[in-house]
Amino acid sequence: MDWETFVGHHRQRGWFANAVRQQRLASTFLMVGPSGIGKRTFARLVAKSLLCTNYQPTEFATCGTCEACVQIEAGTHPDLIEIKREKDKSNLSMEQLVGSDETRMREGLCYEIRMRPYSGRRKIAIVDDVDTLAVEGANSLLKTLEEPPPGALIFLIGTSEQRQLRTIRSRSQIVRFAPLANDELALLIQRHGLADKSAEALRLAQQSHGSLLLASQMRDEAMREFRELLVESLDSKPIDFPRLSKTITAHLDSIASEGQARRDQLKWVLDIAIDLYRESMRHGLGVPSALDAAIHPSSAENAASGTLQRLSPETLSSLIQRTQQAREQVDRNVSPAALVEAWVTEVTGMSRA
Ligand SMILES: [Zn+2]
Repeated sequence: MDWETFVGHHRQRGWFANAVRQQRLASTFLMVGPSGIGKRTFARLVAKSLLCTNYQPTEFATCGTCEACVQIEAGTHPDLIEIKREKDKSNLSMEQLVGSDETRMREGLCYEIRMRPYSGRRKIAIVDDVDTLAVEGANSLLKTLEEPPPGALIFLIGTSEQRQLRTIRSRSQIVRFAPLANDELALLIQRHGLADKSAEALRLAQQSHGSLLLASQMRDEAMREFRELLVESLDSKPIDFPRLSKTITAHLDSIASEGQARRDQLKWVLDIAIDLYRESMRHGLGVPSALDAAIHPSSAENAASGTLQRLSPETLSSLIQRTQQAREQVDRNVSPAALVEAWVTEVTGMSRA
């Protein structure tokens, strides 16, 4: 991966290029945004630019062929420490951060980052899944964030600011990442072989809310069926309240019992609803979306089949607002089940209008 083939996030890239050129990098960055949009790849590319031996660190470029570039690509560079939540664990573990009980402070990220850089440049750490950092883990990491070793650079990667502990947030420079644009995601979808034709890739992109992770999940039959069922339920009159809330809950259960994946899915569910309301509003106002028209001129497959289009723009606008509000609450430690219940109750009432 290099900057030429990296897709999207131009603003963040320009910002980092500038900060690196002027040698004014903070020591800790908290990168937040939806899963599957390239935050980790971005962090690795910054690391590569700083460690590539064929360029000066201030040039913010990578050659792809020097030992450092090859090692970073292979995940073996001695100055790049990468950790993420292990598959069977619900949190980033203390072992990963400060070593096991026997090796406490003689192993783990907080220890390694204090070692002298092998390359003579700097130590860089990428900590993924910081949403899952428990208080104990955060406290052990805090000392490192408060007194970072000279030149060390730490990237913390999570999905939203609200999910982070205040102590971590306040010691980091926050960098926000937005979902990829449809054409950017379509490009990645084709590159990853998730779709062959560009029209097919664009359609998959439209349903995947800027996330390559969702795009790959959308290839799953069950995911597609759920999406259709959801659209159909929201677009029926009256809404079958118990059925809708059961459908959503069953879907969340099928994805994961664990917290973050469930929250990510719930956001996606709400995104589908928001898109549907927006699309219905456009149809109601006689403004078909240009993108839709280009792909399937006769029938807008993403749009509601009818009921929602007959609602007033004001009602649809309230539905959008209420759903966006629910989406924001997903990250505020509200239980996903309670959130689904409350949201479904309200949209059922509002759609009746
Ligand atoms: Zn290189």
